[in-house]
Amino acid sequence: MKVINKIYINGEFITPNGTEILELINPTSGQKMAEVTLADKVDTQNAIHAARMAFKTFSKSTKDERITLLEKIRSVIIKRQKDLTDVMVEEYGGTYQFCSMVSQFAIDDFTAMIETLKNFDFERTIGHSKLRLQPKGVVGIIIPWNMSNGFICTKLSTAIAAGCTAVVKPSEMSAQQTQIIAECFHEAGLPKGIVNFVTGMGDVVGAEITRNPGIDKIAFTGSTAVGKIIAKGAVDTMKRVTLELGGKSPNIILDDVDLETAIPTAIMGAFLNSGQACAAATRLLVPYDKLEQVNVIAKNTVEKTKVGDPKNEDTGIGPMVSKKQFERVQEYIKIGLEEGATLLVGGPGKPEGLEAGNFVKATVFTNVKNSMRIAQEEIFGPVLSIIPYKDEEDAIAIANDTAYGLCAYVSSSDQERAYRVAAEIDAGRVCINGILHDSKAPFGGFKQSGIGREYGEFGLEEYLEPKAILE
Ligand code: NAD
Repeated sequence: MKVINKIYINGEFITPNGTEILELINPTSGQKMAEVTLADKVDTQNAIHAARMAFKTFSKSTKDERITLLEKIRSVIIKRQKDLTDVMVEEYGGTYQFCSMVSQFAIDDFTAMIETLKNFDFERTIGHSKLRLQPKGVVGIIIPWNMSNGFICTKLSTAIAAGCTAVVKPSEMSAQQTQIIAECFHEAGLPKGIVNFVTGMGDVVGAEITRNPGIDKIAFTGSTAVGKIIAKGAVDTMKRVTLELGGKSPNIILDDVDLETAIPTAIMGAFLNSGQACAAATRLLVPYDKLEQVNVIAKNTVEKTKVGDPKNEDTGIGPMVSKKQFERVQEYIKIGLEEGATLLVGGPGKPEGLEAGNFVKATVFTNVKNSMRIAQEEIFGPVLSIIPYKDEEDAIAIANDTAYGLCAYVSSSDQERAYRVAAEIDAGRVCINGILHDSKAPFGGFKQSGIGREYGEFGLEEYLEPKAILE
């Protein structure tokens, strides 16, 4: 059993002031795997103080100095890539396939931010004035469990590029993953206090970050409900906030596609990260007259998708992160049945032979109405809703009939038609013919999926305060 009893403040691994111990349960086996000592309010204040002190100098660093730092961190992360993958698989049951991709994304984040920074002008002329973009200050980074180190790398690479310092509050369920990423930042030899890691509970560490006047900006990824609590709390000290929140992303299959290719890809998109992904394509919109054909392909694909030990390279769906998350998914499957959706495959309970862990059956409902709760609410598990539509206009209306607007997907054999449909959808990212990622293109939500953008220039500007100097 692992023991995580240190937090990282001012360049040192120290014993926290907090004494509460949390047990971490392995989601695959149901056995206790680690104990973590949780940080408290005092630890959070100490971390904020360290970051404030460091900001005095780091805010004056040059672009070249920051590029050198980012390159150093990147090289350490490359060296530890396997450790990052393995701990992610172990700690929260992400599949090996998914976790390897996330570790690569972490490296790509640094590569992309280094390139962005090289081409970015912090001083410009606007009208007849000078414009200076200066670092916002100390950033509080609050992270969920589902892709912990990936999100940390996206946010920290940008904060460092901007000249900000940071206090990171990862999920209490990601303590082992946090330990490794903190070791990477330490090994890269960052000046003290630029990056601090304080693992603790949301209503303790997260609440202090939200309230403390020493924090200038909060970069949050997590649920819409917690995002709202943070935004409300942050306004008292007028902190800047970026919120990356939930989603219920539509995947429009237009009537001209090859279904044998598009539907298996759509299933993969829905079950991304065992369905525990904000960007998961959980509403599959298909033409009415193709519904029967889609059902057959979807059922075959899901039956062939392996649910099981996330360590195996051919596993497509691992366990849910926690018992609570398992129960949440069960509840939604029950709701789907009560709402009268047709169960195509999967259903309640655990798959045979996988009773020990938090495994759920890969589940597809078909003939779903978009007004049903399973089509409107974020389930965060491998549960897909197939929703039939009449024509293109209807498909777009259904796609947009949601409180969310994080991602959307469109498949068509006609690129221009797909682009035209994409233009009509209210979502921060629309992928055409695939589940795609771009570490330089903006990522973030319309509507209740959030505020602000990450990645590339748009992401960097979120960490900068514009100052106009008029002469
Ligand atoms: P969550 O909102 O419960 O928790 C996220 C973080 O906020 C955790 O570190 C938690 O401890 C902290 N927190 C909880 N209460 C807090 C409070 N009162 N004040 C400050 N911080 C607090 O989310 P989760 O269950 O860890 O993750 C799943 C959610 O995250 C899903 O809704 C998912 O859609 C969302 N998510 C969004 C994105 C995105 O980029 N848009 C990416 C991944 C996950």
